[in-house]
Amino acid sequence: MRKNRRVVSISLCVESRSFMKLTLRHSSLSLSILACMLFVACASEPKRPIPLAAVSMDAVDGSSIRGQISFSEPKETKGVLRVMVDVTGLTQREQGLHVMEADNCRAAVLPGARHFNPDGKLHGQHAGDLPNVQSDIYGTMRGPLLSRILTVSGKYSIVGHAIVITALPDDFSSQPEGSSGPVVACGVILPL
Ligand SMILES: [Zn+2]
Repeated sequence: MRKNRRVVSISLCVESRSFMKLTLRHSSLSLSILACMLFVACASEPKRPIPLAAVSMDAVDGSSIRGQISFSEPKETKGVLRVMVDVTGLTQREQGLHVMEADNCRAAVLPGARHFNPDGKLHGQHAGDLPNVQSDIYGTMRGPLLSRILTVSGKYSIVGHAIVITALPDDFSSQPEGSSGPVVACGVILPL
């Protein structure tokens, strides 16, 4: 008589959004080998830093941008704010991303709304001047940007500030906002 084979479910490296489950029919020996391989793979994968603040981005002025941005301060890169961008609906290869002085989107989207600038510097050196978001061919960005100025507490805290995506890329030199065009998405950064 044919030996019964077991049905086993294995959860792989459970993370916030990447939950995978395998259902396999295999002998116990094969499962042992697979378990060892998975252990090595999971053990070598770096841990994602815990988000300390986040923002849900809403479309402005007829754009179709949607998504979330989360913020963390990884221990291994002390003094660096990690800005994890997960947005869709981008229309340019690069578009500006700015933390604003304003604490709400109604004010942040107005022409002349100021970037977060606690040190009174020129544009390009504003604390709120983040690197441009980079779109793939589908209008999506899922990946990290870094700031060596912004934090989630203290003088340079992003919490409670609006953050905007603009229609055009920031050139980091034109005053006062880098020729980055009108705001096409906005949200207010909240603590987690
Ligand atoms: Zn600026």
